Order: sequence, then structure tokens, then C-alpha cells
Amino acid sequence: MGLYRDQGVVLRTIRLGESDRIVTLVTQAHGKVRAVAKGVRKTKSRFGGRLEPTSHVSLLLYEGRELDLTQAEALDHFRVIREDLDRLARATTMLEAVDQVAQERQPGARLYQMLVGALRALAAHNAPLLVPGFFLKLLALEGFQPILDGCASCGTPEPLVAFDLVVGGALCPACARGPRVSEQAIDLMHRILDGGLAGVLNEPVTPATYEVTDLATRAMEHHLERRLRSVTVLD
Ligand SMILES: [Zn+2]
Repeated sequence: MGLYRDQGVVLRTIRLGESDRIVTLVTQAHGKVRAVAKGVRKTKSRFGGRLEPTSHVSLLLYEGRELDLTQAEALDHFRVIREDLDRLARATTMLEAVDQVAQERQPGARLYQMLVGALRALAAHNAPLLVPGFFLKLLALEGFQPILDGCASCGTPEPLVAFDLVVGGALCPACARGPRVSEQAIDLMHRILDGGLAGVLNEPVTPATYEVTDLATRAMEHHLERRLRSVTVLD
């Protein structure tokens, strides 16, 4: 394959030897890739500080015996995120979820675009529903969009009063099991999944905000079959 260009977001890095790092990125054209950044830990590294988690970079990669990162230019610095612990925690949670769902070398431009969009939104405004909204959209992208149009068990249109993580949807009073859910929370999730996330992010916090945060986090965790290590608790 030789030399190729791509764009990506750094998900995580691990040390390799004295001065190198293995950098895991989600890219536009090649899905998740793990590349070696040689000399990145040296003081005068040509990469500067451009290969930290959340970095959005334009890349030049060389595929030989291993995949080498030969050049990285910053597209977004996301300084606002890195300098704010709360924003950084939220970003880290999203990076972790993406790292879990992304397949190595399986192109998935939508996942890359969603993450870049979410990081830009987080840099602009630290909205409580950003991460839960991202999780719901990520579940939908994975083919596990929560069922909210009627009871996920019997199909009754409404009222819907509970949310079952195993079935992945809302339930009517007759089928109800799992956490209870309000009409307002179902409405919020509907709007997030119907392309209304940007509008939802600008609304004031209500009890439904907490419900959606809890449900979306639990649904994402259920999907990943493990608890996310860095889930941000909304308080
Ligand atoms: Zn039912």
C-alpha cells in the first residue's frame, strides 16, 4: 500500500520503547488504525503535541512491515476541551466508546464524522446532553437504535412508561420492566435520533435530561457489554 493520506482523531496512545508511541486513531477512510509514531516522545519531535487523545489531524501514513505515522498536521486543536477537566472527561468517554465500536481497517466515515462533530460541539458548548446524545446516535449507527415509536415488546403505541435495555426500547404499562421513563425523556430521545440534537443541546436542564443521560449511558454500556471506565456523572 505504501504511502497514503487520511484524516483522523487520536483515540489513545501507548508508549513504545524509549521515544516512540503507538497511536490509535479513528480515520475517515481506513476505520480504526494503529500506527507507530517514531520519536514522538523526544523534546524536539516533529509531531509536537499533535498526537494526544482528541487531536484531530491530517495524516501521512506509511504502510510497510508496520504502519508508520510519518506526518501529522493539526486540523482542530480542541484546546478548550483539553484545558477543562470536565470537558476532557466527556471527550474521553466518547473516545472510549468509539474505540470499542470501531473496527480496525474497516472504513466507516460516518463514525469519524460523528466524533469530529461531537468534539466541535463540546468545544463550543459543554452541554449535559452531548455525550448521551452521542451515545444514542452511536447505537443507531451500530444498528441498535432504541425503539421509541411503540412498545418494543407488544407494539402498543402509547403510553410508554419503561425502558428495557435487553429489548432496546420503551415498554407499555402491561409489558413494563426495567427503569421507568417519562414522556418527556422519550420525546427528548426521539428528537435526538431524528436529527434534532443541536436544538436539544441548547435547552435548559430538566429532570428528563438526567433520565436520558442515565438511559443512554446504560444502553451504551449494555451494548459494549462492559462499563465504560470514564463515564461522566451529571451532578
Ligand atoms: Zn407492551
